[in-house]
Amino acid sequence: MPDRRREVYPEASDAQWGDWRWQARQMLGTLDELSARFPLTDEERAGVGAADARFRLGITPYYLALADPRHFWCPIRRQAIPLPAEARAAPGEARDPLGEDAMRPTPAIVHRYPDRVLLLATDRCTVYCRHCTRRRLTGGGEGELSRSALRAAVAYLRLHPEVRDVLVSGGDPLLLSDERLEELLSEIASVPSVEMIRIGTRAPVTCPMRVTPALARLLRAFAPLFVVTHFNHPREITQEAAAACERLVDAGVPVENQTVLLRRLNSSARTIADLNRRLLMLRVRPYYLHQGDVAEGTDHLRTPLSAGIAILEALRGHTTGLAVPHLAVDLPGGGGKITLQPDYVLEKAPGAWTFRNFRGERYVYPEPAERDCSCPYEEVFYSPGFGGSAGQGDATKRPVIEPASPKSTA
Ligand code: SF4
Repeated sequence: MPDRRREVYPEASDAQWGDWRWQARQMLGTLDELSARFPLTDEERAGVGAADARFRLGITPYYLALADPRHFWCPIRRQAIPLPAEARAAPGEARDPLGEDAMRPTPAIVHRYPDRVLLLATDRCTVYCRHCTRRRLTGGGEGELSRSALRAAVAYLRLHPEVRDVLVSGGDPLLLSDERLEELLSEIASVPSVEMIRIGTRAPVTCPMRVTPALARLLRAFAPLFVVTHFNHPREITQEAAAACERLVDAGVPVENQTVLLRRLNSSARTIADLNRRLLMLRVRPYYLHQGDVAEGTDHLRTPLSAGIAILEALRGHTTGLAVPHLAVDLPGGGGKITLQPDYVLEKAPGAWTFRNFRGERYVYPEPAERDCSCPYEEVFYSPGFGGSAGQGDATKRPVIEPASPKSTA
């Protein structure tokens, strides 16, 4: 189905449509705004009303133009327009399903894992996804990261040299201006122990015009920096979205994708295999396939755990390993991620393990006679002053890259 831009926004000029700020300003955030542009069913009207006071509504014109008005189960529609079920909390669901608030030493930092942190840059998004884990934050109230909150976050990073990896998320950090983003990234990159930065964003999916050439150059200047985006369905891979991803990759910014399994929207091997194949064509690596978190009001969108395993089983061996993501469950209450996969081990005997392969055939892997797996060369490689130690001659240290100021390169 082609996008319905001309039907949904006949008055928008090409310049407006291609301007991410215009898209952000025009976001549809009320029942009246949405129903003026899209033929809502009674159930959707009730859903918008019921969700209104609890979780924010907001859809860019671009994303709404992808929604299919003839099909209730259109995955764009169901990700963006709430249903009455959202107002119900199922047993086990929580406002803070990952227990993040207890791990916020400072308002902008969530520190759960030993060597990495999440930095909450803003509470705004270009689309408020109905399955959002952080809907308690994206529901509004936290706002953009203030300069004092940023200073506190950076001070925390300086006090915690064990943190090597900072995931900047929110909300969607690409809703910040280039100038604000550059300031934020510069502050983070100035911390000597930070080796890499990741940006979690749905902008390539829901507002691809945000990925301008200037933004791609800006992000490249902070290498190693990875963009982690969030395509859930092949329908979202439009020409605009594809161009946004390729702009990043062409500029030298690696792009990974996280998909959330959504019941009856993408919960089939056919859809996930197709999505991952198309992502790889854009040089976007399918990274995670997420089991839905137990966020309040999302029970109707969550899949049984067995569904994800069955999808992984249908992928592994049948398509390139590059198209097989990690199937992850973020354990409720802050336990962290674990990964699931089909069980291929049939038997573990002392001298050999027996497996079934992707066709269900039995194979035996003989164990080696020697068991010592220690690595003697580590003593040399990690000795002071040698290549593998932190310090002089360490090729893995964050490279110094001439800053590509968005002002000078735009
Ligand atoms: S873009 Fe991400 S943070 Fe924003 S609503 Fe969607 S899932 Fe939540």
